[in-house]
Amino acid sequence: MITPFESPIFVTRPVFPDLADYTAQLTEIWDSKQLTNNGLQHKRLEGELAEYLAATHLKLFSNGTLALLLGLKALGLKGEVITTPFTFPATVQCLDWNQLTPVFCDIDPVTLNIDADKIESLISEQTSAILAVHVFGNPCEVEKIQKIADKHHLRVIYDGAHVFGTEVMGKPIHHYGDMTMYSFHATKLFNTVEGGALAFKEDHLAQKLDLLKNFGLLDAEQVVLSGLNAKMNELQAAMGREVLKVVDVEREKRHELKKIYEAHLNAIPGLRIVTSLEGAASSYQYFVIEVDQDQYGRTRDELFDALADYNVFPRKYFYPLCSDFSWYSRLESAQPENLPVARKSVQQVLSMPFYGELSREAVEKICGILKELHVEKKEVLNYRK
Ligand SMILES: *Cc1c(COP(=O)(O)O)cnc(C)c1O
Repeated sequence: MITPFESPIFVTRPVFPDLADYTAQLTEIWDSKQLTNNGLQHKRLEGELAEYLAATHLKLFSNGTLALLLGLKALGLKGEVITTPFTFPATVQCLDWNQLTPVFCDIDPVTLNIDADKIESLISEQTSAILAVHVFGNPCEVEKIQKIADKHHLRVIYDGAHVFGTEVMGKPIHHYGDMTMYSFHATKLFNTVEGGALAFKEDHLAQKLDLLKNFGLLDAEQVVLSGLNAKMNELQAAMGREVLKVVDVEREKRHELKKIYEAHLNAIPGLRIVTSLEGAASSYQYFVIEVDQDQYGRTRDELFDALADYNVFPRKYFYPLCSDFSWYSRLESAQPENLPVARKSVQQVLSMPFYGELSREAVEKICGILKELHVEKKEVLNYRK
């Protein structure tokens, strides 16, 4: 047996900028005497990110969830929103907080994104939007989704938590749809410790979002709508400005690790790489595999448990399905028989350790372990005798 790692290997590790550079930013903040409320760091990061991502409009928020929640609010959606069950809980919880009813659509077996061919049959009189997720950085079928939306006069919102800096057909990914949310949580490729943003095209949404994230305060004495507090503070913004300087290096390191994973895993039966896209099309947010029990000889859960003995701790993103949350149990679209592909994939996915500071040797060793844990058909047969 391959010897276990000495210390635990987790799925990710946050990108830290140079400490001295961050401290220099802190000194500026201390001198400015301003900690939040659209300060200098905030203004700079908003501008720098809009430029880096090539966004017409970009607004910062204290986290991605509040960005999405208030983005949906700004669009004034009503009734039902067609979405995916295979996502992080935040996506659908943002619908709940807007009194919107999710209508769960099954997913594509290859990309694990919402299956665009199954959206139209779920549209009703109550449908106001499609909320899709670019899962693990695999872009959705953006043009097909837009066609359906145009035909039925629906809004399209993307949860883009996994697609920082990703392009589709030569355009930044937020070019598609009415609005794209980015998460800058510590575990995301680009982080501001906690943070998020919305990218959008319509001018009138800019002021509305500024109001929504600051209690609806037009000025010190006028409250013009019911908002929330979702402002990014100066320490977060400064962190983002420093991380932005190293994000391309992080991406490149992950690109190298991905090549090692791919070279080894393609030779192991029963392991499919979900995040196989290359170049500008890949966000390098996660490295995700699907375990085919028949060919690999173990279920995903058996593999997950076995890896712990080697001190390797992947994550079962996204398990469980959002449609299985107790408060959706009465929804027709949440019934298991309506989501066969999602049900199968949710039992097979595994996000493997993937971050710039992970060494090449560590990835090679993890691949060796995956190979060692693969159970040959023969063995299974002998064992069963
Ligand atoms: C991380 C994540 C979120 C939540 O973002 P926060 O910034 O942590 O609020 C939403 N959706 C998906 C798919 C995510 O991975």
